[in-house]
Amino acid sequence: MSGSDDPIVIVGAGHGGATLAALLRQAGHTGGVVLVGAEQHHPYHRPPLSKKFTGAEVHQPLRPAEFYPDNAIDLRRGVRVTEIDRAAMRVRLSDGTSAGYRALVLATGSVPRRLAVPGTDAAGLLTLRTLDDARTLGSAFGRGNPLAIIGGGYVGMEVAAVASSAGIPVTVIEREDRVLARVASSELSRRLSAAHHSRGTEIRTSAQVGAVYSVAGRVRGIELTDGTTVDAETVLVGIGADPDDELAHRAGLACDNGVLVDEWGRTSDPSVFALGDVTRRPVPWAAGPVRLESIPNATEQARQVAAALLGTEHPEPEVPWFWSDQFDLKLKIAGLVSPGYRVVAREGRRPGAFALFHLNPENTVVAVETAGAPGEFIAGKKFVADRTQVDPDRLADPAAALRDAVTESPAGNRQFTPRRIHASTSSAAHRTG
Ligand code: FAD
Repeated sequence: MSGSDDPIVIVGAGHGGATLAALLRQAGHTGGVVLVGAEQHHPYHRPPLSKKFTGAEVHQPLRPAEFYPDNAIDLRRGVRVTEIDRAAMRVRLSDGTSAGYRALVLATGSVPRRLAVPGTDAAGLLTLRTLDDARTLGSAFGRGNPLAIIGGGYVGMEVAAVASSAGIPVTVIEREDRVLARVASSELSRRLSAAHHSRGTEIRTSAQVGAVYSVAGRVRGIELTDGTTVDAETVLVGIGADPDDELAHRAGLACDNGVLVDEWGRTSDPSVFALGDVTRRPVPWAAGPVRLESIPNATEQARQVAAALLGTEHPEPEVPWFWSDQFDLKLKIAGLVSPGYRVVAREGRRPGAFALFHLNPENTVVAVETAGAPGEFIAGKKFVADRTQVDPDRLADPAAALRDAVTESPAGNRQFTPRRIHASTSSAAHRTG
């Protein structure tokens, strides 16, 4: 049985798990912390994998290797937790050992969705989730051969941007009638598609993959169900990711497309917590629990779980947000984007800068998509947080101050005094795919 001297065991040494371990130490927790990671690498940043993977910058550790021993974090790399015995409060590990826990935290992330068509066992058919995946993709790029990307989600479009910038012929194959159909407004899809087209990327929408064809076991292209083909020597499958909740499922924890947690990260077992991509959780801006895949989401949940474990004050919930870099476009998105809302465009003063505000029928701002417009992003995120109502015509007028567009801010937004915001090109969710 577990004892009170047992450590907090964190399963998954990705962004959320490693952040939680660090936060526990930062808050003065002196008990044991075990961080179990299936990958061999020390915890690293995942966003560069789709943005920098042709250079050395692809590998960006979250913290120096000595951080873990220096902070008495028992990091076990290349080891999986294979089973949870909730009654005994123990986990079994793939290296044959086991560990008792006083609290268990699942931070297992998500796994790339698989393509269910004939031919997917061919060499050269890749997915992108880990540093090793990115290195494989980077070396395929080195050969300069044509690339097909199945799925026009954020990861696919980021890779398309890097590849086309490197002179590689790229075709994006998207099942829906536009790229980013599940996660962005049609206006953002249109603007991004134009940016990709202008750099030579071919985007085939409403296109269904029928099979992957290969020669001598190596991929040579894709057959679409309309009978056409796309030749490619590398195929990246970027059709989204599913929560890695299999371990939780087997342990009998409540799951429904992700481990179900409350706002503090508690699962259906009071000794087990979960955070990051693997969870589905309530947020004040959605009617039911949502599954978010973003760094800010994993970070916020790590803060909530740390507070729950240590009995300290919980941080305020944060409006979901994330970023994406494509060419020189620095995209930042806040709020939950879903179809059906009115989208009001506010053009920036500099070329390529814009903000797309999503309004519900009461003209309340529910989301904002921005490119090269950090001021609009910050104001838009605050509008979402405060459920601010706006005058759409003023909002659309770049000469009008954003504060003059506000008609009502029911969430007690007393402190907010929006300043005049000019779009700039300076760099700065539910992010999926
Ligand atoms: P992860 O970081 O995925 O970590 C989970 C870890 O758990 C993995 O290392 C896995 O191997 C390990 N694991 C799983 N099962 C076990 C087990 N049984 N035992 C031990 N270890 C286990 N978000 C943004 O906000 N902006 C971006 O620009 C952005 N770009 C991205 C680009 C790419 C290519 C990808 C893949 C993701 C991107 N994301 C981005 C999303 C972001 O990286 C994730 O939302 C975030 O990493 C989630 O953190 P996590 O801790 O939940 O999971």
